[in-house]
Amino acid sequence: MQHTVSPVGIVRSCFKEKFAIPRQPQLAPAARGVLELLPPFDQGDAVAGLEQVSHVWLLFLFHQALEDKPRLKVRPPRLGGNKSMGVFATRATHRPNGIGQSVVRLEGVEAGRLLLSGIDLLDGTPVLDIKPYVPYADCIDDATNQMASDAPEPIAVTWSEAALPQAHTHALRLREPLVELIEQCLAQDPRPAYQVPPADRVYGVKFWDVQVRWHYPKPDQIRVLEVVPDA
Ligand code: SAM
Repeated sequence: MQHTVSPVGIVRSCFKEKFAIPRQPQLAPAARGVLELLPPFDQGDAVAGLEQVSHVWLLFLFHQALEDKPRLKVRPPRLGGNKSMGVFATRATHRPNGIGQSVVRLEGVEAGRLLLSGIDLLDGTPVLDIKPYVPYADCIDDATNQMASDAPEPIAVTWSEAALPQAHTHALRLREPLVELIEQCLAQDPRPAYQVPPADRVYGVKFWDVQVRWHYPKPDQIRVLEVVPDA
């Protein structure tokens, strides 16, 4: 049996590439985006009542990780990338039907647009459905997951003398909490778990329209080197 689904909207996100996106929503509250609804859902009727809700579930397509051949086992980055698990035991992006789900904060509701924060979604992500978070049903006090019991331990993020004023300047221009976004995302330590980076290796990622570059003076410490317009 086959079904066809079509997006109800597209996310415009601070994240322009997969690298350095947090592994789950809520890990970077400063990660913001706009869900632009597509016709016929771009009318006020489709979101009437949603202003009474603080968080929504987004069901979306991992559009940059779609594969023809289903995998039964995957190697989650959280487990260091060298241990394989059944695909249904993980939240890996490579999965049957390529469907992801995230609970995100609803900052605002406008006809045709939802303003979001705490997202873990790439720019351009197609959203298949939106549902209100229902605390009494969705928050399970005694839930356990032995593979992912707690949020990853954040690592220290420091700034070079040049980088912090650069980030503040771009934050003002963008009207976005860019300093917080950089600190929250880099504290998740985006490098692959197996990499021990030499101190002179520079990493970079694009957030909004700026390039953020950093290095690891020590393996458990990040120093932001510069925040410059993306060329
Ligand atoms: N919260 C979702 C879930 O549990 O289904 C996503 C979890 S998945 C482990 C998070 C990663 O998905 C992010 O770190 C990012 O690199 C990747 N990602 C986000 N949006 C994507 C997209 N549209 N296509 C492919 N990968 C994406």
